[in-house]
Amino acid sequence: MEYFYSFNKYLKDLFGCRVQRIPLNANFTCPNRLDGKPGCIYCYQGSSYKEKSLDLKEQLEKGILFAKKKYKAKKFLAYFQAYTNTFDKVENLKKKYDIIKLFPDIVGLIIGTRPDCINEEILKLINSYTDDYLVWIEYGLQSPYFETLKWMNRGHYFSDFLKALFLTKLKFPKIKVCTHVILGFPGENKEKMLETAKILSNLPIDGIKIHPLHILKGTPLAKIYEEKKFPILSLEEYADIVTDFISYLPQNVVIQRVTGEAPEDLLIAPKWCSFKEKMKVINTINDFFKKKNLYQGKNYSGTKHLFDNIKIS
Ligand code: SF4
Repeated sequence: MEYFYSFNKYLKDLFGCRVQRIPLNANFTCPNRLDGKPGCIYCYQGSSYKEKSLDLKEQLEKGILFAKKKYKAKKFLAYFQAYTNTFDKVENLKKKYDIIKLFPDIVGLIIGTRPDCINEEILKLINSYTDDYLVWIEYGLQSPYFETLKWMNRGHYFSDFLKALFLTKLKFPKIKVCTHVILGFPGENKEKMLETAKILSNLPIDGIKIHPLHILKGTPLAKIYEEKKFPILSLEEYADIVTDFISYLPQNVVIQRVTGEAPEDLLIAPKWCSFKEKMKVINTINDFFKKKNLYQGKNYSGTKHLFDNIKIS
């Protein structure tokens, strides 16, 4: 049984075959790491393990070959993942995004960015791909809470996310919006985390990626953790929270991720977030869904899209 609407299922429904994301490092940077700013305290290479030694075309060629062999994928999505993929002049962004036109099997474009790093001009460019491609933009939120965002040195607040979300959905409705949240921040108990799900369930998001907080070597968070060990979620605690969390989301929101993983040699804690534990984590989450008789939408209150009637001229 499928307990939630996965990205694989969504893509299969849309294209009728296996479609695979090809993660890219397009040599962007991030406004939260410039001028001596330390960035988000958990940030490791802008949330990507991809090296930027290859140019974009080579990365796509290599990624497509790998995905064809490993997943028998037939179509592909170019995923601009590392750092802030809208942080440049529009003409430079266009040059980078246009790479997808060289690959006939690429059917979509995914652009990961910060909600305070978007404007109408950039959205207009991104929207221009929607006639020929499936287009998603990913706005990292991580948490809606002021204190948590301040603690992680995120450099933006929930209001920035709302502004970006509504600008996108009201003016460019063909662009799909995914958001990222992290569960397990110190200072957020289960009740607060579930409140996040309830808040998001009332917003016009199309997808979500949910990650557990994990600590990587060389990040400011590693130093904080070394000085003062704060509690980290166990796998069972995470599975308990994430299954409840998903039960509050409407059934049409695509759950693009239910966990996050990192290379073993980089990971400080929790150890269950290493790449090799991924299947165990997925199985534990599915066991919790079954045991608790939960599924996506079960606890959703049905008030999504309160803002559907707002129009921007
Ligand atoms: S926004 Fe992304 S790239 Fe920038 S500091 Fe935070 S995690 Fe790193």
